[in-house]
Amino acid sequence: MTAPAWLPVREELRDEEPYGAPQLDVPVQLNTNENPYGPSEAAADDIAASVRAAAFGLNRYPDREATALRTALAAYLSREVDGLDASHVWAANGSNEVMQQILQAFGGPGRTALSFAPTYSMYPEYARNTHTRWVAGQRREDFGIDTDAAVALIEAERPDVIFLTSPNNPTGTALDPAHTRAILYVAPGMVVVDEAYAEFRRAGTPSALELLSEFPRLIVTRTMSKAFALAGGRLGYLAADPAVVDALRVVRLPYHLSSVTQAAAEAALRHADELLGQVDALRVERDRTAERLAAAGHTVAASDANFILFGVFEDRHAIWQGLVDRGVLIRETGPLGWLRVSIGTPDEMDAFHHALQEVTS
Ligand code: PMP
Repeated sequence: MTAPAWLPVREELRDEEPYGAPQLDVPVQLNTNENPYGPSEAAADDIAASVRAAAFGLNRYPDREATALRTALAAYLSREVDGLDASHVWAANGSNEVMQQILQAFGGPGRTALSFAPTYSMYPEYARNTHTRWVAGQRREDFGIDTDAAVALIEAERPDVIFLTSPNNPTGTALDPAHTRAILYVAPGMVVVDEAYAEFRRAGTPSALELLSEFPRLIVTRTMSKAFALAGGRLGYLAADPAVVDALRVVRLPYHLSSVTQAAAEAALRHADELLGQVDALRVERDRTAERLAAAGHTVAASDANFILFGVFEDRHAIWQGLVDRGVLIRETGPLGWLRVSIGTPDEMDAFHHALQEVTS
């Protein structure tokens, strides 16, 4: 897609495509790492009642600071780490918006952001949108981060913002905490650990939340889109030093989080246990999917997330298309030859394995 010549769009955007996995209407959708289990009747009723109550106040702007919501998010994070309150938490419309705000505050012209590929494909787009120079290091063959190479790259590039992703998308790889520390010690600017999939990590895999009290330039981002089954609600958040939160408050648009969003997210948080109840089932299904893929002769990347990267196919597009033709949508992403499947219900995964067997035999 090229913008028409008469349109005075920024030159670097002229030939750009909008982000987006294909949203195809097929029976088995395993392409955007959504939670296959929707909210229960009780949670949906509470969300609806809360949004109805908020509706009577829609003539007024929402709480700009989203204080009640941030307090509830801090309480949720306190299940994992002590010492967090609303002043440590910031929220926006998806962790996508949180990360763009981070680059608005800490990136920008003359500044550099760095990450390690293959990783979440949106980071370079946030950098582009905020006129931040983008540098991509490379992950190892096993998709982990080589600490020595990372340290050397950081020392050479002096990035203002580093994005680490744990578990990483699209590989599922969790960061070794020793590597996170090594990077935090040498990073001259902010370090963002994107933990969008943290709740799915395997037992014994630590969260970077534990490092917050030690490293004031660390930001840990989370989202309600995945484990909380609230992708449609658009609520992402972070935990960091209160000074970081204050910097983000400077760049956020006024009233960026609508009253409806705040009400829905607060209601969902009241049902945290129930909404998170399917996480264990999804972790079991993830491990089962890895075993079945390996048994079928595929190479499988070890995953701490709710998706699995597998391959390696000579013509991955043909495999992807063959699955779509059989009503199963997965994602053509990651290094050449690999495909990513999100973990669905056991029935959906059976449909996936069956279709994959047909396509590859
Ligand atoms: N980080 C990672 C690693 C992701 O995979 C995603 C979504 N796919 C996001 C952030 C953004 O999620 P959301 O905006 O829905 O919070």
